[in-house]
Order: sequence, then C-alpha cells, then structure tokens
Amino acid sequence: MNKISPRFDFLFNNLNKISYFLIDPTHFGAVNEKMAEFCSLNISEIEGKPISVILDDHKIPAVKKFNEEIFENGLRSTAEIEIEIGDEQKIIKVDTIPHHNLEGEVDFLLCLAEDITAELEKEKKFYKNKKRYRSIFKKAPLAFVVSNRETNIIDWNDKAEEIFGWKKEEVINKNFNIIVEEQSYSDITELIENVFEGEESYNINKNIAKDGSELFCEWNTALIKDRNNKILEIISIAQDITEKINIQKRVESQKEELRYSELRTQFFANISHELKTPLNLIFSSLQLLEYKLKNTLSDDTYQFDKYLSSIKNNGFRLLRLVNNLIDITKIDVNTFQLNRGNLDVIKLVESVADSTKDYLETKNRNFRFESEVSSQIMACDPFNIERVILNLISNAVKFTSEGDEILLTIEKKDKNIIISIRDTGIGIKKENQNIIFEQFRQVDQKFNKQREGSGIGLSLAKSIIEMHGGEITLDSIYGIYSRFNVCLPIETIDEKNVELESYYADSLLNKIELEFSDINNI
Ligand code: ADP
Repeated sequence: MNKISPRFDFLFNNLNKISYFLIDPTHFGAVNEKMAEFCSLNISEIEGKPISVILDDHKIPAVKKFNEEIFENGLRSTAEIEIEIGDEQKIIKVDTIPHHNLEGEVDFLLCLAEDITAELEKEKKFYKNKKRYRSIFKKAPLAFVVSNRETNIIDWNDKAEEIFGWKKEEVINKNFNIIVEEQSYSDITELIENVFEGEESYNINKNIAKDGSELFCEWNTALIKDRNNKILEIISIAQDITEKINIQKRVESQKEELRYSELRTQFFANISHELKTPLNLIFSSLQLLEYKLKNTLSDDTYQFDKYLSSIKNNGFRLLRLVNNLIDITKIDVNTFQLNRGNLDVIKLVESVADSTKDYLETKNRNFRFESEVSSQIMACDPFNIERVILNLISNAVKFTSEGDEILLTIEKKDKNIIISIRDTGIGIKKENQNIIFEQFRQVDQKFNKQREGSGIGLSLAKSIIEMHGGEITLDSIYGIYSRFNVCLPIETIDEKNVELESYYADSLLNKIELEFSDINNI
C-alpha cells in the first residue's frame, strides 16, 4: 500500500495517532504526517522505505518476526517497540491491524502507534518513589497497611505490627478484615467503595488486635492508580487513638456524674427541708407536752415520761441521720463548708468532756479526761469538731461494755494538737482498720445489728478533720482496745475570733442527746 486514495489521505493525515502501513514485514507503505513528525523525517524519507530507516539493526529481527506472524496468521496484535530518534530513546505502543484481500490473504498491515515514552517514564519514577516510600514507611510512627483492589493486605509496617499485634508474615495476602470486627465488615466494604468513588477518606474505626482487644483508630486512605486510572494499591494509614477516645469517654462520664451529683445535692437539699420540718414540729410539740406534764399532778406521769423520751430519742436519731446524710452528700460534691474561727480548742473539748461525763457514768463506763495543755487558740469549726468528738465518744460507748474504760486525752506534738479517745472495748481487727473510715462501712454487719448505726460517722469525721488540714488515725488491738487520734494543725485565720460562750448558746446537752441517740435505744 504505497499510495492511498485522496479521501483516505485526508483521514489518514488527520488521525490523532502515528499511523503507517507495512506492505511486507520490513517495508513501509504510506505514512501519515504524525509518523513523519515523530521520526523527525519527511514523509518521503519513510514511505516505501525499509524499516531500517528508523530502526537500529539489532532491533529489526524482532520487529520483522512480529510482523511476519501477523501476515501469516492474520490476527491483530499490539507490541511496544523501542526506537532511537536522534539521541532520544522512544517507546511506541503499536496496534497492528492486518488487511485481508479478496482471496483472504493478508496483503498489508495498518499500524496505529502511540508515543508512550513520557508515561513509562512517569511509571518508572513512581516505582522508584514507591521503593523509597516503602523504606520510609517501614519505620514510620503511624501504622501503614497497603492492600490491593480486593482489600487483601500486601504490605504492613512495624507500627502496624505493634498496634494490631500481627506480624507482617501473618497478614500478607489476608483480607483487611483481619483487623475489623465482624459486624463492621460491610461498613468497611462500603467505606472502601466510597473511597474508590473519590469520597472523603478519613474515618474513625473500632479495630480488633490479634489478642482480641478492641482499639480505636483514625484512618486515612489513599489510592495509588496507574496511568489508565486502574487502582493498584490502597494505602491506609492508622493512628491508635484508643487512649484519646477513652479520655473523651471518661470526661463524658465525669460530666454525667457531675450532672447527677448536682441533681442529687438538689434532691438532698429539698428532702432535708422536707424531713426536718416535721421533725422540728415533733420536737416543739414534745417540749410543750413535757412542760404540761411537769405541771400535772397525776400518778401516770412516769409512763408518759418513758414514752416521751422514746419519741424524743428516736426523733434525734432521725435528725442525726438526716444531718449526716446531707453532709456526706455535700462532701461528695464539694459543697460542704466549714465555718472556722479562732478559738480555744482545749476549752471546747473540755466542755464536751464535762457534759458527757454524767451521761457516761449512767452507762457505767469509767470515763476520764486528761489534757497536758491548758489552752490553745487555733482555727477550727467548733460545731463540727464537737460533732467529731461526740461521735468518737458515742462509738466508744457503743463498742464497750459496762465497767470498761474510756479515756479522752489532749496533747501537743510539734505544731499539732492531738485529741485521742481510747476505749477498752472490743477493738478492731487489723484488716478492718482502714475500711471503717469508708462511707457506709461497718465491720461486722451481723454483730452490728445489736448496735445501731449507719456507717457514716467515721467517714464524716475523717472528711471534717481533713478539711481542717489534719488527720484521723486509729490504733487498736482486737479484743483489747481502740484508740482514735484526731490530729489538728495549730494555726489561726485572719480576724475571726469566736467566743465559746456565745457558741454555747446552742445547748451542748441537746447535741449530746443527738449524737448519742443511737446508743439510748429506747
Ligand atoms: P456507725 O454509725 O455504724 O457507728 P461509724 O462510721 O461511726 O458508723 O463506725 C464504723 C464502724 O467502725 C462501726 O460500725 C464499728 O464496726 C467500727 N468502730 C467504730 N468505733 C469503734 C470502737 N471504738 N471500737 C470498735 N469498733 C469501732
């Protein structure tokens, strides 16, 4: 095919591809302008000439053989051919189409070629880069998981081994699902499909490590495509954010807890009012009744006295419980406040001792008070310190028997005042010595049934003393003695002195009745 008709000539020359005819395996027929341009020759320098005009001698046999085969078998075929044009090495991809004559023989070949040198160069660069990134990614601080179009893993770096627990050899050719929990398989497939469609590649997933543990990872996925836009690899980069998520969850639950405790405090504030109002009414009615009875000259008053004391005592027990519950709740949510002033703490404890003395005698306890210090002005909340001491004395009565000893002492050690309550009662086993300071803890539930109590007293005492900057400790030998030591730092606060006399306007005797109401048991 040396010459082509003018109509075809127009078409041939305007083809977007390098085109030429081969009239036999080694000779060109007509060639188009694109071909001439590509070869940097004139059309006349190629047309009808042997292929050696553009091919090196050593390349000719292979090209000749390829063409001969098409002439023989009549089948269209493609090949990549290297050609040296000037100093440049070029590669063309040639689609060779045989033309059959009326006898069915192949009489010439139409070749449509494309210069793919630049693309091949790009690909080469890509593979060079790929080699380079492989070595960087092995030691990268993020997990790299490389998989193919079918999401089977083809590479896996050191960090991936570390966070997912699988060695590289164990995961190669396994599906990506190996690190995905079963119920999320379809989600992941959908996600990858979306990435294929060009959607956002960032997501947070729950993953499963080799040992079955769950972890949260932040994933970024990128696609590596070839020049025909075919997906070669999926590179997924993961960062383990389990700790971050857990912290977030903890913060959430703390917020929830805070909301709940605010509700709880509000509830207790309301309920305390609701509980205290009827109690106060009961107490004032009681007072009135007592007064009336005193002025009645009836023989039955003894019976009335007994009932009235029972009502009063149980009223106190309820009141004490309500007060303690409210305060422990306030302490839990940090809304409990001390009302501290500078006062003589020795005097304060001494008056507690004086007021309880008679009562303890009626209970047949040998009570003694000893202080090596006669006066010590320091900052404390008299109401709450008194409450702690009364609670410790009331416990000492509760866990001793008639004839036992209760000793209240005060000493000064360094910059502290130490108030101790020692009793020769049942004592506390070593293993229980810490837990009795926890909320609602009583040592022996069964045993304590005979002794009333809620298990709040000591935990409240501990908090009150700690809020004073002090501490409460215990030493005890089971069956022999218990000794609670309240250690308070000697310090004063600015311009807030409290006269105990004014403080005592609020009767201490009532408070004793209140704090001891559990023991009275009437
Ligand atoms: P409760 O209101 O039940 O007395 P506390 O918090 O005051 O609660 O005391 C907790 C527990 O500590 C008591 O139930 C008892 O088991 C133990 N305990 C407290 N004081 C003494 C003591 N002086 N001797 C023996 N055990 C005691």
